[in-house]
Amino acid sequence: MKPETRNPKPETRKRLVVLGAGESGVGTAILGKEKGYTVFVSDKGKITAAYKAVLNALDIDWEEQQHTVSKIIDADLVMKSPGIPDTVALVQQLKKIGIPVISEIEFAACYTDAVLVGITGSNGKTTTTMLTHHLLQAGGLDVKMAGNIGDSFAKQVAQQETAHYVLELSSFQLDGIVDFAPHIAVLTNITPDHLDRYEYDFNQYVASKFRIAENQTEADYFIYDADDAVIVSHLESHPVASQLIPFSLTKILEKGAYIQENNIHITIGNTTQIMPTDTLALEGKHNVKNAMAASTIAQLLRIRKTTIRESLENFQGVEHRLERVLKINNVRYINDSKATNVNAAFYALDAMNSPTVWIVGGVDKGNDYSELYALINEKIKAIICLGVDNTKIINAFGNCVDHIVETQSMKEAVKMAYRIAERNDTVLLSPACASFDLFENYEDRGRQFKEAVREL
Ligand code: ADP
Repeated sequence: MKPETRNPKPETRKRLVVLGAGESGVGTAILGKEKGYTVFVSDKGKITAAYKAVLNALDIDWEEQQHTVSKIIDADLVMKSPGIPDTVALVQQLKKIGIPVISEIEFAACYTDAVLVGITGSNGKTTTTMLTHHLLQAGGLDVKMAGNIGDSFAKQVAQQETAHYVLELSSFQLDGIVDFAPHIAVLTNITPDHLDRYEYDFNQYVASKFRIAENQTEADYFIYDADDAVIVSHLESHPVASQLIPFSLTKILEKGAYIQENNIHITIGNTTQIMPTDTLALEGKHNVKNAMAASTIAQLLRIRKTTIRESLENFQGVEHRLERVLKINNVRYINDSKATNVNAAFYALDAMNSPTVWIVGGVDKGNDYSELYALINEKIKAIICLGVDNTKIINAFGNCVDHIVETQSMKEAVKMAYRIAERNDTVLLSPACASFDLFENYEDRGRQFKEAVREL
C-alpha cells in the first residue's frame, strides 16, 4: 500500500474507514489520524467506554451498533478488523466497488522501517512470539511484540519508533495483506481450525497461512515445521521466494534445526549452535519445536549463543499454556486452558509423564478424537468431562478408561479430580474444545481452574 504523507491539506486528505473498534481498529484509527487521514470508525456492536474516550480525545468520528453505508463507501481505504468475516455484505460491496479492504498489519507495516518477524500457525503462535521476544530482548535488541498480542501494532507504530517487532499473526490478519512482507516468517504448524471462516475448505485455510511468505524475497527467511506434512506438501507445489529454514524433531537436517541426543542443533550458513533440551524451561515436545523456531530467529538476528541458551532456561512460560499451578499431596495441577483444539491437547497429553486425570470438554469444533487413543491408553487414568454436552467425549473414550464422569462447573470438576488423583499423579485441564458453553473465554476457564485448585 502507498503510505499517506503526514499532515496533508484537508482537501487532499484521504478517507480511512475502520470497521470494528477493538484493539486493532482503534490502533489503526490512531495511526491513520497521525498520518493525516480523515478517519471514520464504524462498529456494528457496542464500543467500550475506554475506546470511545480514545477516539473522542483525538477527535475521530465514530458510530456504534450500525454501519452507515453512505459514510463507508466513500472511503479511499478500509481497514477491516480480523473478527469480521469477508462474507459480510458490506465487505463484499466494498470489494465490488474496488475499495481496498486491508488488515491492521498491512496498514501499520507501511509506516515502520522496523525489522518485522511474523509468526503464524494453528498452534504455538503466542508461545513462540513471547519466547522470541524474550530471547531478542535478552540479547539487547530494541524489540516489541504486537499483532494478536498486547497493544495493537498500529498504535505502537504511531507512538514510538522500534527497531524490531515480533508479530503474532492469525490467518484473519494475513487475509487482509497486500504488500506485507516480514523479514523472518515462521509457520509453526497447520491443523484444521477456524474452518467456518474458510467455507469448510482446508485448502483455503492453508493458503491463508502461507500468505505470510507471499511477498518475501530471497533476502528474507521462512522458518517452518518440516515434520508437518501439510506444510511440506504445500511448499512443494507452491514454492516461496525466501530462504527456507526447516526445523524437525524426527529428521537430521543439513540446514535448520533438529534434535540429536537430547540436543537442539541449529545450522545457519557455516554456524551451528548446540543446546540441551533437558534444561528448557518449557515442557513438552511442542515446546521443543517452539524453542527451535525462536532460537533460529535469535540466531538469524545475531543474538549470542550463551544468551539464547540462558534465556531458553529462564523463560517464565505463558499463562494458560501448560501452566503449573500447584502441587497438592504430591499431585501436580496443570492449566492448559488454551488448548482449544485436539492437536493442542495431543501435545499436552504427550508432555505428561505421570498417570493423569484429564479435564476435557466444552464446545466441540468438529473434533476427531481418534488421534488421541494411543496417548489416552498410555497416560490417562480418569476423564472428567466439563461441558454442557459431553456425549461425543463419552462415546469416544468411554471404553478406554476406568473412570469417566460428567461435571457442569469448574469447582465440581476440580473437586472430582482431587478425589480421584493419587500421589505422583497429574491433574491436567486441556479441554480440546472452545469454552463458550460454561465460560466467557479460555482465560476465564483457566482462571476458574486455578482458583478452584487454590481453594482445595
Ligand atoms: P496459539 O497462539 O497459536 O493459539 P499458544 O502458544 O497459545 O498457540 O498455544 C496454544 C496451545 O497449543 C497450548 O496450550 C499448547 O498445548 C499447544 N501448542 C503450543 N505450541 C504448539 C505447537 N508448536 N504445536 C502444537 N501444539 C502447540
